[in-house]
Amino acid sequence: MTRALVLNATYEPIGVVSARRALVLALDEKVEVLADTGERLGSASRSFPVPSVVRLRYYVKVPYKRTAPLSRRAVFARDHGHCQYCGKAAESIDHVIPRSKGGGHAWDNVVACCRRCNTYKGDRLLENTSLRLRSRPAAPQEWVWVKVAVGTVPAAWAPYLEQEAA
Ligand SMILES: [Zn+2]
Repeated sequence: MTRALVLNATYEPIGVVSARRALVLALDEKVEVLADTGERLGSASRSFPVPSVVRLRYYVKVPYKRTAPLSRRAVFARDHGHCQYCGKAAESIDHVIPRSKGGGHAWDNVVACCRRCNTYKGDRLLENTSLRLRSRPAAPQEWVWVKVAVGTVPAAWAPYLEQEAA
C-alpha cells in the first residue's frame, strides 16, 4: 500500500497515512500536497496524483514528542542495520550490559549486532571483551518512528525527515 507522510503546518513530520486518505484530505483542502508519487488514483475520467508528502493547512498541537517504541525493527532502523561492534550487517540485537548482569532493555543498552559478535561477546561485559562500541547507543532521533512505520522511506520523504533530524 502506498503511504503518505503527513507534516504539521510547521513541517514537522507527525504521521503516516494511506495515500488514499491523504488524497481525501487534499480534496477537502485540509492539506497541501508537497510531493506526489507520479502515479494517479481514481477513474479514467477523473484522476488525481497520488500524494506522497502532505502538509496540514492548520497547526496541530502534538501532545507528546513521538518516539519509536523499543523493538528489534526500531533498533535496526536507528543503527542502519549495522553491527555496532564491527560494522557488518546486523542479524540480532545485543544488550550491551547483559540482562543477566542487570542491564536494562532500554534504548541506551541495546544495539544492532551481527551473529559473530553476539556469539563472541556472550554473557560478558564489554570491558572483558575486545569489542568496542562504534557509537554510544541512545534513544533514536524522533523521525525513526517513520522508518519503523514504513520499512523503507520513499526518496520524496527524505528532505522533510532530514530537516527534522538536523
Ligand atoms: Zn559484529
